[in-house]
Amino acid sequence: MTAAADLVLTNGEVHTLTDPDETYDAVAVRDGRIVRVDSDYEIDFLNGVETREIDLDGRVLLPGFVDAHVHMETVGRHRLRADLRDATSPSDAVDILRDSDSDDDWILGFGFDESTWAESRYLTRDDLDQVSTERPVVAFREDLHTAALNGVALSRLRDDLPDGDVQTENGDPTGVVVEDAAEVVREAVEPGPAETAELLVAAQRDAHETGVTSVHDMVRRSHAPRIYRELDASGDLRLRVRLNYWSDHLDAAREVGLRTNHGSEFVRTGAIKTFTDGSLGGRTAKLSDEYADGDGSGQWVVPPQELRDIVPEADDAGFQLAVHAIGDEAIEETIDALAGTDDPAGARHRIEHLELATDDQIERMADLGLVASMQPNFLKWSREGGLYDSRLGPERRDENNRFPAYLDAGVPLAFSSDSMPIDPLFGVHQTVNPPEDTQELSVTEALRAYTSGAAYAGFDEGRLGTIEVGKKADFAVLDESPWENPASIADIDVTHTIVDGEAVYEA
Ligand SMILES: [Zn+2]
Repeated sequence: MTAAADLVLTNGEVHTLTDPDETYDAVAVRDGRIVRVDSDYEIDFLNGVETREIDLDGRVLLPGFVDAHVHMETVGRHRLRADLRDATSPSDAVDILRDSDSDDDWILGFGFDESTWAESRYLTRDDLDQVSTERPVVAFREDLHTAALNGVALSRLRDDLPDGDVQTENGDPTGVVVEDAAEVVREAVEPGPAETAELLVAAQRDAHETGVTSVHDMVRRSHAPRIYRELDASGDLRLRVRLNYWSDHLDAAREVGLRTNHGSEFVRTGAIKTFTDGSLGGRTAKLSDEYADGDGSGQWVVPPQELRDIVPEADDAGFQLAVHAIGDEAIEETIDALAGTDDPAGARHRIEHLELATDDQIERMADLGLVASMQPNFLKWSREGGLYDSRLGPERRDENNRFPAYLDAGVPLAFSSDSMPIDPLFGVHQTVNPPEDTQELSVTEALRAYTSGAAYAGFDEGRLGTIEVGKKADFAVLDESPWENPASIADIDVTHTIVDGEAVYEA
């Protein structure tokens, strides 16, 4: 007689998302692992007195989503601070900031995206002086590479802000700061340990509500790693977290003997994260040609020579690398640097974003076995008249985020949100309904990139990413089938999220 299951999910449309995808009615779980994937009839034999049964009522059961590139503190801040993502204009953003209420000294807003506004410009000091002339006010652009400061914040930080990244008009700062200056601002408003715990717990809720059961969090000089481990120890972490440490942490990580894949069921060491260029929004992504709307061809955030030092150092210390590269010139430098490591495929070195890779670059990635870590939600900027249209012009706009080219070449493709926003179905919707054919994936391909593809990028394909016997019982339940409603995937609700065999979210 077989032991009873702890949990059975029955009467559903279970997609394994293996290759090929298979469908079943039901799944049985014991001790946090999948023990059977079968028909309702067969699963019924595993139903014991202690078994919890979830009747899926015809809904779709998928492997839990793995978001391979997020900033969980930022996700938490969207929840707990002024959320500027839905602001419709500069004055609307000012209103949201004014209404936000916090006991902190700083008034902080996160996530504005001027490219969606009719009055398409950054927030400025003049805007933010309307929020307060007594307390420092900062509004971060969605990509965090650009920030706007009011007068109080500017005068507080003035001595620390590198002149080159502080925008001026007739010699006066406009309040807009980019790149290194934006980083100074980020550091000035960094949360302490208690606030970090609050932010991460809030972010975990966002993840669960969107079917995300595992994240690769990019952390830098943050309390997050310690807080995650404390939450894990106390049983409050119900999300699998891979920590990708900024290269500033390389020496410390090496000193204590950490390397990629160390850790527990819930908190593991991931990659060393580094940069090459900036963002298209900030016109700092490094292109081989000029921007269509002026201001040169971008800039290095980490110069190529520095990258060539960091890469072998981290690789020799046993770390996977995750290198941010958006423009074609930055991608070229990154591939060159990673190609110099001993075993790029074995180390699963990843390139983050990769928005403007050329055919040759995609071929080289395939040959080297590099992982493409990309964001389908970024297609929201790729529409006609959108941000990429103005930055790149119509021809190059067609060449961004060509997901099918990676799959055709055999490059492992991992999807993620970069927290803009954390919401896999929104991203899947974008690539299933793209602006250009060169960006179109099938529903199954897109879902795989957000499950097994992202799991592969985190060395997790043995335990996560598909629904198979022996894998972790991490699931997302969808109210409707994305295969039957391809034009409205973004509107499909997640009704249950299950982590380690436990329902962590029920709508
Ligand atoms: Zn990021």
